Amino acid sequence: MTDETNDIAHFDVVVVGGGPAGATAAQALAEAGHSVALLDRAGRIKPCGGAIPPRLVRDFDIAPELLVARIASARMVSPSDKRVPMPIENGYVGMVDREHFDEWLRDRAAAAGATRFTGRFQAIEREGGRTLVRFLPSSGTVEDGNTMTERLISTRLVIGADGARSSVGRQAIPGADKVPCVFAYHEIVRAKPAAPEADYDPVRCDVYYQGRISPDFYGWVFPHGATASVGTGSAIKGYGLRPAVERLRETAGLAGAETIRREGAPIPLKPLKRWDNGRDVILAGDAAGVVAPASGEGIYYAMVSARMVAEAAEAFLATGNARALAAARKAFMREHGRVFWILGIMQTVWYRSDKQRERFVSICRDEDVQRLTWESYMNKKLTRRDPAAHLRIFFKDLAHLFRLVSP
Ligand SMILES: Cc1cc2nc3c(=O)[nH]c(=O)nc-3n(C[C@H](O)[C@H](O)[C@H](O)COP(=O)(O)OP(=O)(O)OC[C@H]3O[C@@H](n4cnc5c(N)ncnc54)[C@H](O)[C@@H]3O)c2cc1C
Repeated sequence: MTDETNDIAHFDVVVVGGGPAGATAAQALAEAGHSVALLDRAGRIKPCGGAIPPRLVRDFDIAPELLVARIASARMVSPSDKRVPMPIENGYVGMVDREHFDEWLRDRAAAAGATRFTGRFQAIEREGGRTLVRFLPSSGTVEDGNTMTERLISTRLVIGADGARSSVGRQAIPGADKVPCVFAYHEIVRAKPAAPEADYDPVRCDVYYQGRISPDFYGWVFPHGATASVGTGSAIKGYGLRPAVERLRETAGLAGAETIRREGAPIPLKPLKRWDNGRDVILAGDAAGVVAPASGEGIYYAMVSARMVAEAAEAFLATGNARALAAARKAFMREHGRVFWILGIMQTVWYRSDKQRERFVSICRDEDVQRLTWESYMNKKLTRRDPAAHLRIFFKDLAHLFRLVSP
């Protein structure tokens, strides 16, 4: 795998970013027999609520011990503080700690044959018909006083799985720098033992639809066994996320709990129109913008998109035809485009004022809504089993929109 003439290692594919998307793509391509370099920068735990659906656990063979909590219900909290319980029948929401989950996925990719590199991606370069990835190894030595040693890898294809506001995307894909984002911020707190006054249940997710917690998204308290993620998000520049989380912690009775980490990151809310450059670069996961609007759920979609990208990459590697890369986005939008569209409308309609949020939480009382919400979340399918329920929800939705019923 080394180019003898100038000592540059060569891999069929370089995957930049070792989160759920990158590790999944690297594993799939290594299992298919390709030489794969998986480059990830070291030392940062991805800020994330860590909620995953059972479908992900099944489809991606996630080891049960990675689930630090199995959530049995959610509670929606309205602006007027009405609390609507939503028990989960026949299922759960899984909680993972990204520190361990991501490393486990990277290890699994390495066990499948991918070669891991630790360092920071710098640039894609082209030289004499070759595609080169330049990166700064984490253990980069300081030479001549202060020059770090950069390294090059040559490759046929770069998969940019380096998350929201992807550097690979910005360099190679037009429009990648313009993805609309919600900025999310959370605090990891010690939740065990919770203070006696805490309104906290270790198997219940609390979701706050209140303008004082987020003017255009939602706030959450997600239990993670010994710890909990307490967070919120907003697309409004300058909105005070930290004070909002402070208010949320007070409301949940977790103000006095020990804070373990404070961290935030952007969540992209729209799939890019193009994921590839028609030549030698393709994006997956957050880098491609595939997070569900309204919920901000991105881990499952990152992994699913990565599998589709790996399939398109295989076709490209087999034929040399770069047009094969476009199949990944097409396949993803065919399977999930409708759900993203519906969730996008939901976010626009229901998250825009406290009045609307009050109505939205009130709709969640409905048994049909609860059942269909959980089934769709857990199985990632719009259920067709009960068309009458869809119809009932549609009319109830209309009634709420046109203020025919009070919240
Ligand atoms: C606060 C918050 C809470 C969230 N909660 C949830 C939730 O509960 N459930 C859910 O499903 N989703 C949640 N999400 C969204 C979810 O975290 C992402 O959608 C998901 O992590 C996307 O995976 P990814 O692999 O595409 O990107 P990432 O997980 O961001 O992984 C990108 C990887 O690339 C690496 N990288 C970045 N730049 C470079 C570089 N220059 N060189 C080398 N490596 C690089 C990073 O170190 C990282 O390992 C949340 C997001 C936030 C911000």
